[in-house]
This record gives sequence, C-alpha cells and structure tokens, in this order.
Amino acid sequence: MSDRTPPDAQPASGFPPDVDVLIIGSGFAGLCMAIQLRKAGREDFLILEKGPDVGGTWRVNTYPGCACDIPSHLYSYSFEPNPGWSRMYPTQPEIWQYLKDVAQRNDITPGRIRFNTEVREAVFDRAAGMWRVRTAGGDEIAARVVVSGMGGLSRPKIPDLPGLARFQGPTFHSAEWDHSVDLNGTRVAVIGTGASAIQFVPQIAPRVAQLHLFQRSPPWVLPKLDRPIRPWEHRLFRALPGTMRLFRAWLYWRQEAVAIGYTVHPKLLRPIEQWGRRHLERTIPDPELRRRVTPDYTMGCKRTLLSNEYLPALARPNVEVVTDRLTEVREHSVVTADGREREVDAILFATGFQTMDMTSPVRFVGVDGVSLDERWKEGPQGYYGVAVTGYPNLFFIIGPNSRVANNSIVFMIEAQVGHILRLLDHMDARGARVLEVEPEAQSAYNDALQERMQRTVFVSGCDNWYRDARGRNPVLWPAFATGYWLKSRRVPSHGYRTLEGTAAES
Ligand code: NAP
Repeated sequence: MSDRTPPDAQPASGFPPDVDVLIIGSGFAGLCMAIQLRKAGREDFLILEKGPDVGGTWRVNTYPGCACDIPSHLYSYSFEPNPGWSRMYPTQPEIWQYLKDVAQRNDITPGRIRFNTEVREAVFDRAAGMWRVRTAGGDEIAARVVVSGMGGLSRPKIPDLPGLARFQGPTFHSAEWDHSVDLNGTRVAVIGTGASAIQFVPQIAPRVAQLHLFQRSPPWVLPKLDRPIRPWEHRLFRALPGTMRLFRAWLYWRQEAVAIGYTVHPKLLRPIEQWGRRHLERTIPDPELRRRVTPDYTMGCKRTLLSNEYLPALARPNVEVVTDRLTEVREHSVVTADGREREVDAILFATGFQTMDMTSPVRFVGVDGVSLDERWKEGPQGYYGVAVTGYPNLFFIIGPNSRVANNSIVFMIEAQVGHILRLLDHMDARGARVLEVEPEAQSAYNDALQERMQRTVFVSGCDNWYRDARGRNPVLWPAFATGYWLKSRRVPSHGYRTLEGTAAES
C-alpha cells in the first residue's frame, strides 16, 4: 500500500509500478471498486474513463424513456442508500445523477480519475510482474493490478443489412441516440423489440406519423408496478434509515424468489406467464395482433420485460408490427422477405450489444502473449466471473457468467468487488506480487457451472443473446444471486496461486 498519488503517465520500467490498482471505467462497477479500495485504506488507485464524465451505461444511454427495470432502492449501492429516489423504478437521468453524487461524496474527483482517456492495450510484463497499459493518446502506465469495469453492454450491435449504406435518412442505435434528429411527423422503422425498444417505442409512437416495428421474436412483457415515491415515504426513509434498508431487503428477496422459477423449477413460472397473457389481453384488443406478439417460449429464456406502455403502443393505428424478415434497405425504404417495400424517413436500431465481446476496445495480452479476445474467440470463460487463467492480476467486474437475470446487477458488482479486495488481501498476506488462477480450477469451475446451467430456463430452447459460438451460456450466473455472494466471500483454497516475485519466476 502506498500514499503516492497517481503520476502523470510516463514510460514505465521495473517495479514499483506507477499505480497499484488501475481501474478501467467509471460506471457502477468502476466507481464501486474505487470507493471500496479507499474504504479498505488502499489509496493507490487510478480510474481511466473513456468518456467525459462518470456514469457508464447510464451516461451513454439517453434514448427517450430510458429507465431501469429493477427497483430504485435495490438498483443502488448498499453503502450509499438514497432516501430521495423519486419513483419506485429509476429513470436514466436520476441514476446518472445518483452516480455523479456518489462519486462526489466519496471524493472520486479528477485527481483520481482521468476522463477522455480510452485504454487500448494492456500487456502483462512477465519480468516485472505487472501490467503495461496503453491509452489511445499514447500514454503508458504501469500497474500491478488492472480491474476492468467496462461492462458488457457498451458495443452496439447493428445488423449487416444489405443496402444499409445506401439509405438516405438518419440511422442510429438506441445507445447512440441522435437527439438532433426531429422524429415528429416522420415515418420510422424500429428494428428489435428488446429491453431498450420497449422503453422508447411508446415515447416516440405518439409523435411519429408511422412506426414500423420489426420484431424477430416477441418478448414477455409484464406490468411495471411503478409509481412516485410518496412524500411520507421520503420522510420515513430520511428519519429512520433502517426502514429503507428493510424495504431494500424486501425488494431483494422478492427479486430473488424469481430465481426459483428461472434456475430450479421453470414450471413455477406458469402463473407469471398467465399474468403476462392477461396483460396482453387487457392491452391488445385485436386477436391477430395479440397472436403475433405472444411469445412461444418459456418466460425467462429471454429477459422478461416490464412496461405498462409498450403493448398499448403496439395497438395504436400508426404502429405496425412487422414479423417478416427485413431483407434489404433502399435509399428511402426497407424491404421485407415477402417483397413488400415500406417507405421510411429514419431507421432506429434497438438490436442490442455485442455481448460476447467483454474486452473491447482493450487488447489484454497475457503471460503467453495471447490476447484475451483471441483466447475467448469461441466464448468467454473465467473464474468466479472475475479472473482468467493466463492473465494474472487482471480482474473483471461482471466478467463471464456473472450477470443475473432476476436481480440487481449492483448486488453482483458489490459481491465481486468484495471478492477482488479479498484477493488483494490474500496477495498481501503472502507478500506476493502476482496472483493467477490455476487452469484446472477454472476448467472444473466452468464444467460445474455449465452443468448447473442445464437446469435453468435460459437454455430452454429460445434464441437469446446469452449463447456463444459453442452454444454455451457464458453470460449469466445460473443460480441465486445469494449463492454467488456466499461463494465469493472466501478465496478458494486451491483456485489461485500466488507468486512472490514475478510470473517469470514461477
Ligand atoms: P436486446 O435485449 O438484446 O434486444 C435486441 C432486440 O433486437 C431483440 O428483439 C432481437 O431479436 C432484435 N435483433 C437483434 N438482432 C437483430 C437482427 N439482425 N434483425 C432483427 N432483429 C434483431 O437489446 P437491448 O434492448 O438493447 O437490451 C440489451 C440489454 O441491455 C438487456 O437485456 C438488459 O440487460 C440491458 N437493458 C436493461 C434495461 C433495464 O431496464 N435494466 C434497459 C435497457 C437495456 P431476438 O429477440 O429475436 O434476438
């Protein structure tokens, strides 16, 4: 541990490194890591952030209606409760403001974080036992430990539609919303019906002349039990913070209960599916439209969505749900497989993210000189979702198999940050510079995890974005969030090995 403040970037040589812990990204994950390092008395850290401010995905995604489908009091750090949440479910501006406030309160200010600094490459220096991190601006920083808080949903996926380059109107992805484009009175094609589309479609449908919604497979949509938090509730949470913690605990266990259906007994989801069907019947009077937007797979196989406005928006006279495949884009129109051409002024992609790409834009090069994207070309694989064999002293937050479909990702972030801190203590206690995962431990961990995955609804037969080239699911944790938390609370005795000197001495 040292009290050195992070230096300006200089070409680095041998030990000691420029900084002890280098964190990439300042969203929920990166900020949590920085705050917990500080609480543990580890002041020697630096965050590199590619954007101009903190907030990660909640800074970047600004599409109309952008919000979270996990309740506010659970979608926040346990150590930074916010009695002031305005609604049961938080909106993007409020979450972003929350993260800015948390950073400010914890003194994660410009001395600790370098904005507009994109990391391009991190190479493990075997001889020195540390990472050499290069930025897009050409700086090199040496760090003993690198923590990636980059998130897996930051690289938009845009389908390669024949003729797209010919299109004369604006086109953009939901995560890169172009607010300079006035959609009022225009004819719009929206491609995709996932978590982002269901939020912005009801927002733009009343203002556009015509909205053609291209659906590949319909999502399960449940009512969103959202409402403003009442003034007396705000007063209660402020006066008696314990009530807020109790409320959070209730929300947590309510979310956790869904994991029984997702990961143990999918049949238990039937009553919830019935609730989804009733929501469809109530909101879509036309039986033919209802048939087209009714899912034919078990709820939970794709992310279950919450919205009170999405299904009613589909029933509007100026909205058309198109289920024929899009085959071509022309200068002013889109064409479907049945040969029908629809004139449109703009194309909006709500087609999700490159979820298998957990490393871009950073090229991590490990002990054997192989980059992690090359190692993971068939699908990512890690250990406890935080570490990867062959890449010592590199830790991921929300790495492979650590997303939860039913609960708050912030809970998983906190659990993983806790695990990383325990690994740092483990190294210190042994006077070790280097820690890496035993390859056998990683293999055994993944075999058990994928076996457990077979019992979940996530592999029940639908086409979802969780699957890799081998058909495995390297994205989700296949059990209760509580199970991960319990498991991550100790450093497994045979999983990691520490090296006193450097990797080269092993
Ligand atoms: P998504 O859930 O992956 O949805 C993408 C949509 O685009 C799906 O309907 C998909 O169809 C469709 N699609 C993809 N490629 C296509 C193609 N080539 N042609 C036609 N359709 C195509 O993406 P997202 O809505 O951006 O959400 C991504 C993730 O972000 C979510 O799962 C969630 O984890 C997170 N998110 C969370 C919230 C929240 O409230 N917490 C809000 C927004 C986003 P198929 O279903 O057939 O593949």
